[in-house]
Amino acid sequence: EMLHEVVDQETLEHRAPIVTIMGHVDHGKTTLLDSIRETNVTASEAGGITQHIGAYQVEINHKKITFLDTPGHEAFTTMRARGAQVTDITVLVVAADDGVMPQTVEAINHAKAANVPIIVAVNKMDKPGANPDRVKQELTEHGLVAEEWGGDTIFVPVSALKREGIDTLLEMILLVAEVADLKASLSSRARGSVIEAQLDKGRGPVATILVQTGTLRVGDVVVAGNTFGKVRAMVNDRGRRVKEAYPSTPVEIVGLGDVPSAGDPFVVYDDERQARQVAERRAGRQRAEELGATSRVTLDDLYKQIQEGEVKDLNLILKADVHGSSEAVLGALQKIDVSGVRIRVLHTGVGAITESDILLASASNAIVIGFNVRPEPNAQRMGESEKVDVRLYRVIYNLIEEIEAALKGMLDPVYKEVVLGRAEIRQVFKVSKIGNIAGAMVQEGKLVRDSQARLIRGGVVIHDGRLDSLKRFKDDAREVAFGYECGLTFERFNDIKEGDIVEAYKMEVVKQD
Ligand code: GDP
Repeated sequence: EMLHEVVDQETLEHRAPIVTIMGHVDHGKTTLLDSIRETNVTASEAGGITQHIGAYQVEINHKKITFLDTPGHEAFTTMRARGAQVTDITVLVVAADDGVMPQTVEAINHAKAANVPIIVAVNKMDKPGANPDRVKQELTEHGLVAEEWGGDTIFVPVSALKREGIDTLLEMILLVAEVADLKASLSSRARGSVIEAQLDKGRGPVATILVQTGTLRVGDVVVAGNTFGKVRAMVNDRGRRVKEAYPSTPVEIVGLGDVPSAGDPFVVYDDERQARQVAERRAGRQRAEELGATSRVTLDDLYKQIQEGEVKDLNLILKADVHGSSEAVLGALQKIDVSGVRIRVLHTGVGAITESDILLASASNAIVIGFNVRPEPNAQRMGESEKVDVRLYRVIYNLIEEIEAALKGMLDPVYKEVVLGRAEIRQVFKVSKIGNIAGAMVQEGKLVRDSQARLIRGGVVIHDGRLDSLKRFKDDAREVAFGYECGLTFERFNDIKEGDIVEAYKMEVVKQD
């Protein structure tokens, strides 16, 4: 699947910067995106009505800027988690009357984790309570120091609502882009990322893609995520049909066989047969991943990679019950000294582990450490599906010891499956709102609530998941032992039949010498 190609340095051309807008809710991200779009129509397309295709381009001083039209760091990080790097610059919106808020800090950490430069738009300057100096002061604490205060972060006062300061903001974006010297080849094989996609009743699967290198043409065969197809038609952000799309240009394409996901990569292939093979292989791999055959980001993998010299950073996200304990954990982490390895704490916060933490971890190959906190239910599920290693501790000593020991190569953990017990389903009860509850008899070992379990029918594993409830009569039970009857349900799985076998198991770390 690796494409070997030689990019001739001579053919690299400047490309437009790709910008994502982030910031706290209600600080004006959407309003800012709207006012930028409406005030700076690209000159050649003046008068065109903007279509919502997930991204748009504006032009200022004869230069283009591409904006992703989905505000917020969730979209940004979801894409990054899928491997897409589709942001060159982040505009951090902070309301001048409200100042730095929790999601402002999250956005900063997400941008930093991605190594994306930040420009601060101090918004709502028209409001009587606007206090841009306070915003500057507060952001200093998060490492964003204004140029006029001796730092290197550009702050631009704007009013998204009154459309003031927009041109200055755009000029500053161009300035930062110039420093970054963004270039791409026009002649290489076109590739880029899916920004958004959906099924259109008339046109079939429709995907907005951002070309990042090369030139995409109508008629090209593309693979996007797990699907492929021939580009039948392309429409730009003005709703005009185009035949070609250059780097940093968003276009909506039709012709794919299925709907890809935001953040999926797309690549042009020479022939359709090869494209089909690549797409099918990916689909197979995804199914395998969904079944848990491979995991993406676990502490153990990271340790291995560190030991093998593949990565030098152990990325952590730390959530703690109170500020004091997060400080204490940070202090202790800083004392860990293992040569060649750097511990990078990408984000710290107080409170439960959230979906945003999981996304950041997934995108940054990080693990999440919870100190006296638990994941929110959604975050727990997302952690499982994204295969992010979430480690929960109550004692600092244990946390540090585990990380230190592993980093020093004392642990070389390999997982081994241990079957806890088996039970036979004797009866299935349909309960409205809950679904199917199975009545089972434990025939071997024991069943344990919250353990991993598979459902076996006629010797075939038809589901592999988690036992999420276990009851003895009406009471919740943590375990039910051999010889006892119990009621049970699987997490998000309902197809249970009489005669099925439930096999509970756990994965245990075995130390190898
Ligand atoms: P988002 O959640 O960050 O996308 O914020 P919105 O763009 O939805 O804006 C939240 C609210 O702030 C809306 O009522 C906007 O009209 C208002 N707002 C946004 N920008 C400005 C501004 O520059 N000045 C004033 N006065 N209000 C603004």
